[in-house]
Amino acid sequence: MSDQSTMPLDHESVDLRPMKKKPRELAVINQYGCTGCEVCIEFCPVDCIYIVPGPEEPQRKKLVEIDLDICIGCKLCSKYCPWETIDMIKYDEAYKKAADPDYTIRTVFDEKIWMKDAPAERVDWRIEPEYPAR
Ligand code: SF4
Ligand code: SF4
Repeated sequence: MSDQSTMPLDHESVDLRPMKKKPRELAVINQYGCTGCEVCIEFCPVDCIYIVPGPEEPQRKKLVEIDLDICIGCKLCSKYCPWETIDMIKYDEAYKKAADPDYTIRTVFDEKIWMKDAPAERVDWRIEPEYPAR
């Protein structure tokens, strides 16, 4: 039997996502203004911004998407987005805003609770994510 106290921590098997205290606001991207520059990704302290395929040239022009379940509302992405296309929205309104077709061109978080409340026509917009499922 192995001595588990000396075994290295297997980070792959540990959920490192922070326990969530309800933030006052969450970041919601207006994807119509997103250039896919990835600046916001560099600043996010909890790595909850993902690159997703864009609508017209999915392989070439990318957008980003924020996992609202992980966002802590720190505002850094909104502050540093060169195109000012990330809005900080009150927590209770953010999920609805993120499902608003005026904000979100596509989403990859189809298993998320807020997505289940999205209008049925939005289902057709979804495409397979390019990153591994979490
Ligand atoms: S910084 Fe702004 S424009 Fe650049 S990828 Fe993020 S949301 Fe899009
Ligand atoms: S507000 Fe902070 S935690 Fe939320 S997506 Fe932006 S940088 Fe990440």
